[in-house]
Amino acid sequence: MADKYQYPDERGHFGQYGGKFISETLAHAIEELRQGFNKYKDDPEFQREYAYELKHFVGRPSPVYYAKNWSKKLGGAQIWFKREDLNHTGAHKVNNCIGQILLAKRMGKTRIIAETGAGQHGVATATVAARYGLECVVYMGSEDVRRQASNVYRMRLLGAKVVPVESGSKTLKDALNEAMRDWVANVDDTFYIIGTVAGPAPYPEMVRDFQKIIGLECIEQMPQEAGKQPDYVIACVGGGSNAMGIFYPYIDYPEVKLVGVEAGGQGIDTPYHAASINRGQVGVLHGNRTMVMQDEDGQVMHTHSISAGLDYPGVGPEHVWLKELQRAEYQVINDDKALQAFHDCCRLEGIIPALESAHALAYAAELAPQLSNNQIILVNLSGRGDKDMHTVAEYSHIDLDSEV
Ligand SMILES: *Cc1c(COP(=O)(O)O)cnc(C)c1O
Repeated sequence: MADKYQYPDERGHFGQYGGKFISETLAHAIEELRQGFNKYKDDPEFQREYAYELKHFVGRPSPVYYAKNWSKKLGGAQIWFKREDLNHTGAHKVNNCIGQILLAKRMGKTRIIAETGAGQHGVATATVAARYGLECVVYMGSEDVRRQASNVYRMRLLGAKVVPVESGSKTLKDALNEAMRDWVANVDDTFYIIGTVAGPAPYPEMVRDFQKIIGLECIEQMPQEAGKQPDYVIACVGGGSNAMGIFYPYIDYPEVKLVGVEAGGQGIDTPYHAASINRGQVGVLHGNRTMVMQDEDGQVMHTHSISAGLDYPGVGPEHVWLKELQRAEYQVINDDKALQAFHDCCRLEGIIPALESAHALAYAAELAPQLSNNQIILVNLSGRGDKDMHTVAEYSHIDLDSEV
């Protein structure tokens, strides 16, 4: 690529993907957001406050870390981690929430809404709402409320109101519809914080821009710590925000290969997976055109992954575009292999990774032995695994309440 990568276009398109597929009632809110984002994104005072918050509230920069034991054991390439697990609230999501709430304040909004599936985005949103003293309402499918009780409690501790959604399958996509309805009804005072690089334009671009700090830091850190830029950058892909965050600044480094890893669940030839790029079809979901897991009638399918954060039937439109440009490739890792990588990371490195991140780790562990020891694989360790204790214990048939 001789030309600099410059997407999306001014209408929010990444090739044929992205755009804004919204009802007329939302057109005004989206236009107001677009203007707000354009006004503040390069504003020095905005950037100064964003940088201050990342440093003092989130704890950035997050380090890069050489996983020496695991690399030695595998033989082959050096595996390095970008430690997003060390951020306040335990994952990358807070980077984006800080950016959006600063924008909300400048746009004069007093009320924050969000939707959440597993609860991680809800917690990050409730966290920044508390920090900035704004009212916060989080929509969550009632089935998810039941499954994710401790995250619901976290949000309530932080002062958010969690609204269980009883319609449809009572999960993420129903919560999303409710959040949209709320936004339409309360557009004057309400800001909708979307948690990944999806949604109608300008959200995919905006969320990417608030996450690109991950890759920008790596570009500075890797030559200092590892002596060169990585040969591979690997990240898990649910909606795709941690992956876009680390990929984006590397797009114009053509010698750095970018690999996204989707959730293969029980296998992509079964109905139980969440590999939208590898197995989905072009469709419209959450206000943008992208690859969607859908049946022959175009109905959005139920997805499955051992990690709740990857259990999403769409994917950010920019990933589909990067694949089409052949600038990134997208691999699949099944539940079993992610779980194995989770345990290896715990035992060999003393780091309990999020199950989402374990998908990226598993692919790195497959790739490393095929490379030489002067090559470097940089994995985005998107979050820590404390939240996944119950899931891992269940898979291992351990009852956390009775065994010590
Ligand atoms: C939410 C989450 C993800 C998936 O979201 P992306 O938008 O694909 O990054 C990945 N890792 C962790 C730790 C998460 O909490």
